Amino acid sequence: MKKVKKFYLSEKEMPTAWYNILADMPNKPLPPLHPGTKQPIGPEDLAPLFPMELIKQEVATEKFIEIPEGVQNIYKIWRPSPLIRAYGFEKFLDAPVKIFYKNEGVSPAGSHKPNTAVPQAYYNYKEGVKKITTETGAGQWGSALSFATQLFGIDLEVFMVKVSYNQKPYRKSMMNTWGAKVVPSPSHLTEAGRSILEKNPDSPGSLGIAISEAVEMAVKDPEARYALGSVLNHVLLHQTIIGLEAEKQLEIAQAYPDIVIGCFGGGSNFAGISFPFLKNNFSEGKKTRMIAVEPESCPKLTRGQLRYDFGDTVGMTPLLYMYTLGHNFMPPKIHAGGLRYHGAGSIVSQLLGDGLIEAQAVHQSEAFQAGVNFARTEGIIPAPETTHAIAQVVKEAEKAKKEGIEKTILFNFSGHGLVDMAAYDSYFSGKIEDFSVSDDMIKENLKALDKLGL
Ligand SMILES: *Cc1c(COP(=O)(O)O)cnc(C)c1O
Repeated sequence: MKKVKKFYLSEKEMPTAWYNILADMPNKPLPPLHPGTKQPIGPEDLAPLFPMELIKQEVATEKFIEIPEGVQNIYKIWRPSPLIRAYGFEKFLDAPVKIFYKNEGVSPAGSHKPNTAVPQAYYNYKEGVKKITTETGAGQWGSALSFATQLFGIDLEVFMVKVSYNQKPYRKSMMNTWGAKVVPSPSHLTEAGRSILEKNPDSPGSLGIAISEAVEMAVKDPEARYALGSVLNHVLLHQTIIGLEAEKQLEIAQAYPDIVIGCFGGGSNFAGISFPFLKNNFSEGKKTRMIAVEPESCPKLTRGQLRYDFGDTVGMTPLLYMYTLGHNFMPPKIHAGGLRYHGAGSIVSQLLGDGLIEAQAVHQSEAFQAGVNFARTEGIIPAPETTHAIAQVVKEAEKAKKEGIEKTILFNFSGHGLVDMAAYDSYFSGKIEDFSVSDDMIKENLKALDKLGL
């Protein structure tokens, strides 16, 4: 029998609207609060940070939001992305499972992040913004936004977490190629950075610190705005193009997922692949399980608390109601830089709190092992973040085998690992450490939030 490996959509079949899950959620997430007054924030509070169209999308209630033509035209550089049946990996696992993956590694930056970078740059351009500031960890978001902003003639300044700036020079080179300015964070350019450096001149930096710096710089410059690559409602919205395409492609494959899996940093690629199928759970009574996979070393979903916390380290961002380990939590230096974040998006947090999605944590050695097996059977080398999703696919396949029940699994291949080969080198030379976070450490960090009185 001839096997079909890839399920393509033509450009004409690309979805023309994003899916807004806020329209369907049984319980809406609690609103973000002003960091000073602790009252719900309004559009005017966010205006120094984001263009108005994105602020509107943050609270929109329509079920579908049209993708502007200017965005669709750029999406077509790499979208629709292929849906691939992982026959090789299935054979290797020897379990009664059909495995499909959506390859988001085909974008110019090599991950799903351009799906939101492009519309964010577009709306800023439409509203006359000349400069954008942002932060980046390992550099995936910074490179995606560099690619997008230069298409619209917007200047970009990226605060890159210092350890990554020193250890991962190639994503910095990508950002420079696309015309962005990259600054190691903490820096002397902002008060937030200077205050950190005063206390600890050797600070390796963190995503939370870099966010503080980028936000401060945007707020102080009336011509500039800020952009975030995950967590916020509008970011998750833009990523739903992934699942909406996958839904159409699975129809062509005459399959429907029992399980949908995505790795989890702030929630954007997980939301992107899972929300369109959650839509069918809500409206058609489907019973697909959605599993978010985080690293054991940064376990906000599986061991954190659902409560108000800051998005950054210094406490400048609005307070978000989310699963968090506390904004002072310093995640161990695992290779999946994109998963080293203390919090999670409010929408995903509410869904998890309501039992509508699930969360699992895996160690990085297990993740790399799954990633290497995947590369050896499917060819494509996954990003260290993506290997976490693949490790969960392995677990679900083993479970299906034990129970003797056939399962169809869909997972999001959030990015390729070709700029992360140093991480694979560490794995092959036995230098991958599995960090465990103690209950006491988590408890202590969360206790510090009590003083917020929320
Ligand atoms: C940034 C990133 C992630 C994690 O971010 P989410 O917002 O949780 O999706 C996962 N995979 C890759 C390849 C990334 O670049």
